[in-house]
Amino acid sequence: MPSEPFLKPRKIIHSDCDCFYAAIEARDQPRLLGRPIAVGGRPDQRGVVASCNYEARAFGVRSAMPMAQALRRCPELTVLRPAMEKYVTASKRILAIYRSYTEQVEPLSLDEAFLDVTDARHCRGSATLMAREIKERVRSEVGITVSTGIAPNKFLAKIASAWQKPDGLTVIEPASVDAFVAHLPVEKLFGVGAVTAAKLRAHGVLTCSDVRLRSRLELRALVGSLGDRLADLARGLDERPVLSSRPRKSLSVEETYVHDLGDLGSCRIELGALVERLIRAAQKLGPHEAIERIFVKIRFDDFKKTTVERASKTLDPELFVALLGEGVARGARPVRLLGVGARISLATPAGQLALFDATTDGDVGAPAPPT
Ligand SMILES: [Mg+2]
Repeated sequence: MPSEPFLKPRKIIHSDCDCFYAAIEARDQPRLLGRPIAVGGRPDQRGVVASCNYEARAFGVRSAMPMAQALRRCPELTVLRPAMEKYVTASKRILAIYRSYTEQVEPLSLDEAFLDVTDARHCRGSATLMAREIKERVRSEVGITVSTGIAPNKFLAKIASAWQKPDGLTVIEPASVDAFVAHLPVEKLFGVGAVTAAKLRAHGVLTCSDVRLRSRLELRALVGSLGDRLADLARGLDERPVLSSRPRKSLSVEETYVHDLGDLGSCRIELGALVERLIRAAQKLGPHEAIERIFVKIRFDDFKKTTVERASKTLDPELFVALLGEGVARGARPVRLLGVGARISLATPAGQLALFDATTDGDVGAPAPPT
């Protein structure tokens, strides 16, 4: 359904750094300028390309490609290990620039974010001028380029930012949404993966114009519950809000017991359940949120409180058991409340190369502009 006509269209900017890690490395090592660079894992340890610059892409190197294959395609490739601290620092500075225009900033990864600037006062309210300023500030304050897309919703803003990479700025005005979307291939629609796209193509549904010719009923029969979203997106409609939650600082669960836990053994039994809950909660962490430390919190029956914590990148149940033992020994009395938690930082653990998402760093597969 179209949004109420009396509501003014939203102004969403999607801002995406161009080959982020590789760009930071080129910035810091001028001797690499103009040469093909890939940042990622070691070729002899089945590492993959996390990020590569345009000079490398000219040789067919791509994000998520095995590094060994990248080197075969481009023997002169300079391979660098990721320096996550540098990327995190740059990411924070870039986010601070975004937040100087609007509080409504939703980071998707270290190098990508949505901004809702509908009510922003800067640049006389012009999203295009704001995007131009943002690009200039990231260039001068951080030393890399970003591509931005401006549109009335998230779905189109993200497509627009990939339209003219690198260093692009693409605006989809509300009045041109319809024409723009009509030619889009279905695989560009949010939520449509390879399997769904193949199913749609097999039924002659190749572009958004084809989707529009099908009723919602037909679409549901084809792709299930995704059908309704497809029908909306194919008409350029996407009401998802920009979610501006700040990065979490910690994550924890706790329980106050009706009957005090009298000994370490009964504390351990309860601890297991708490750690399980914590692990479930941690599944909601974003790709840019990393566990730095873990802790166990204890309140004794005399209401005295103690917290034991240590550095850890994982929610290892054994570590929590050790912390519990230490904490319980401090009070040496019945326990009234137990809590377990983790402190979170804005980072991507360097050891998790496999988690690097190729789609966040590339302009691969951007469709040709409509004619
Ligand atoms: Mg990027």
